[in-house]
Amino acid sequence: MSNTPARSVSSAKTRQLADLVAEMIASLGRRDDAETASRIKAELDAMESRIRQQAAALAHSQRIFDQSAAAARIGIWECSLPDETLRWTDVVYDIFDLPRGSPLDRNEIMSFYSAESARELIRRRSRAVEEHSGFTMEAEIVTAKGNHRWMRITATVECSDNEPVRIFGMKQDITEQKLLLDQTRYLAEYDPMTGLANRTQFQAKLAQMCKQHGEMTDAGALLLIDLDGFKKVNDTLGHAVGDDCLKEVAHRLAHACRAAEIVARIGGDEFAVLTKTSQGRDAPEDLARIIVEALSQPIEHDGRTLRLGASVGIALVDAGSPSDVFKRADIALYAAKAAGRNRFQRFEPPHDLSA
Ligand code: GH3
Ligand code: MG
Repeated sequence: MSNTPARSVSSAKTRQLADLVAEMIASLGRRDDAETASRIKAELDAMESRIRQQAAALAHSQRIFDQSAAAARIGIWECSLPDETLRWTDVVYDIFDLPRGSPLDRNEIMSFYSAESARELIRRRSRAVEEHSGFTMEAEIVTAKGNHRWMRITATVECSDNEPVRIFGMKQDITEQKLLLDQTRYLAEYDPMTGLANRTQFQAKLAQMCKQHGEMTDAGALLLIDLDGFKKVNDTLGHAVGDDCLKEVAHRLAHACRAAEIVARIGGDEFAVLTKTSQGRDAPEDLARIIVEALSQPIEHDGRTLRLGASVGIALVDAGSPSDVFKRADIALYAAKAAGRNRFQRFEPPHDLSA
């Protein structure tokens, strides 16, 4: 595939040479003209030298292109539309972990794509051929050696006499970029140590619940949870043991609040749960009781039995601002701490003495 431009340059040069030779023969046929013969020879030599220079420049550009494309993991592919014959450059073979230059069967190649990517590719390709257009998409493959990879595919349909004859474009390996993007997204929304939602995600959810308050049949509740005496674990057993306790707490919370809207770690030993309230069994007090009970169970760590506890503050989500709801839950949490810890407390509005 990479020789195509070089071929067209040399065929133009070949035509020029043929013209020159024709002129030479005609001239020789007319008379034995030594002067003309040496002029034509000089022109031939000059032309040969120019062709050599241009071929060298072209080979240099081709090398630069090939090296840049390989470094960027970009390969070129083309498919002849009448007979579906595929042609690839080396990088595309490398992306699919197939031996370079091996025969290509389109149906076999399609089997490397994930089911979803294959469906999307077939849909976009048919549409591009129909509309004489092109497309760009990201596709997932499992290679011949079983490696999972992501590619960015670009495609353009070429027409002759308004009939599609060729579809071609680039395939770029974007696996690393994709992983980095997924990691960045994850870090923006999750606490890497516990795997729970982070403060940012929690705040967005609380704001959304406050906004939708009027439309919901069940009101929401915020439960703020803070471990009791957690500093002592760090101080006596070290930070690493403290981290393991936080992971265990997160695991127990996630399990106890399976039906909640969100379970988040919002600070050092502080967690938040947003739940839809309904009457009876799922009332926030019931959930708070389950949480206090779950977190007061001993933690077995390296042959040691550790005892923690947690206090919980509850506030109902209303149409007020998210920070007001948070403040109320925080007041209730500290009331639970002040009342002796290892318990829950619901926010009680102060009595209106003027009434
Ligand atoms: P209280 O009963 O009043 O809640 O006190 P406490 O000992 O639980 O301490 P407090 O809630 O005031 O402070 C939380 C402590 O958690 C402070 C810090 O040493 C510790 N901490 C914060 N982040 C981390 C973390 O990522 N890993 C570990 N191991 N400890 C942390
Ligand atoms: Mg604490």
